[in-house]
Amino acid sequence: MDLLPHPLPPGATIGILGNGQLGRMLAQAAARLGYRTHVYGPDKDSPAEQVASASTVAAYEDNGALVGFAAAVDAVTFEFENVPVKSVRELSARVPVRPGPKILEIAQDRIKEKQFFASIGAGTPTWAIVSQRNDLESALKTTGAPAVLKTARLGYDGKGQAKMKTAGDADAAWAAITGGKTPTGDGYAVLEAFVDFRCEISVIVARTKDGQVVCFEPAENDHANHILSTSVVPARIDPATSKAAVGIAVRAAEALELVGLLAVEMFVTQTGEVLCNEMAPRPHNSGHWTMDAGGVDQFEQLVRAVAGLPLLTPVRHADVTMINLIGDDVNQLERYLKDESARVHLYGKKEARPGRKMGHVNLLRARRS
Ligand code: AMP
Repeated sequence: MDLLPHPLPPGATIGILGNGQLGRMLAQAAARLGYRTHVYGPDKDSPAEQVASASTVAAYEDNGALVGFAAAVDAVTFEFENVPVKSVRELSARVPVRPGPKILEIAQDRIKEKQFFASIGAGTPTWAIVSQRNDLESALKTTGAPAVLKTARLGYDGKGQAKMKTAGDADAAWAAITGGKTPTGDGYAVLEAFVDFRCEISVIVARTKDGQVVCFEPAENDHANHILSTSVVPARIDPATSKAAVGIAVRAAEALELVGLLAVEMFVTQTGEVLCNEMAPRPHNSGHWTMDAGGVDQFEQLVRAVAGLPLLTPVRHADVTMINLIGDDVNQLERYLKDESARVHLYGKKEARPGRKMGHVNLLRARRS
């Protein structure tokens, strides 16, 4: 039951599950609109804790800590989607959680996610469920080779994935994603056709409880070692492809009765077809360009959706390339800090480990299209 005052009055507290950089930027946006934030997550001195009004450092399964958190906040949202659905359900019995646990449950499981995309008429790469090693050969017949084997749950940034060029790779791919263990039950993994894509794009959509829906335009995303490296806006796609991608995001938001933000990642094939890869019901790395290229940004849009404020239409005034600063990339900071076209964002992380997102830079150019 969602009895949140409408809209949430200034000074109210928004709870954020997860305390990484997305929580940090969300807390900053909430503060601009006069809200307090209380972040919750397992790590001490986290990026979000450094800027939030209050913090709980506890495991996501810690029932006592969750009860205390629920009592301290007026609404809850999340910046990390691998929070246990059970914990989010328990919270939602005490305080409005936006988006709700049902969306989280779908987004946490690649099988449910693909079934959901099919239910709204959105294409995906051809795929098959793989519950055990012996399912792999017939799954490969369904998808064709090459294919990508992915754990259905708890995979991100390419973790829990293995490429298969032929059926001869089956044992190695299975061992790579199971770590040598034998999974029990159905739906441990999915096998997906490997898409020879022209580019990868993402669309971020916001929706309010009243049904107002606003999309950001597609970003074109490049990955290195499975981690997002750059997002370029405008994406180099034709208007029909852009319209199709935005249409999918809007249909998804409406079908899920989303209250909050949803990022949908998609492949654009060589023939211009849009195929959905995955979705995340939270702010997204590929939406960081919105912070400097004009109009409302993704974090403020989420605060507005959660708080029951009107959404704004983003009006972009610049072309932009968002560059992630990963690991040692922060050593290039001096150069970016001198660059008049660069807006630098750092996440307050002390140690630059390989693969760790330390910050990002938005490089702005005069708008051409
Ligand atoms: P994911 O964790 O599913 O988002 O995968 C991470 C990245 O791996 C994607 O952004 C793609 O660059 C690549 N990838 C994943 N699945 C496929 C696929 N079926 N075909 C081609 N590339 C893929």
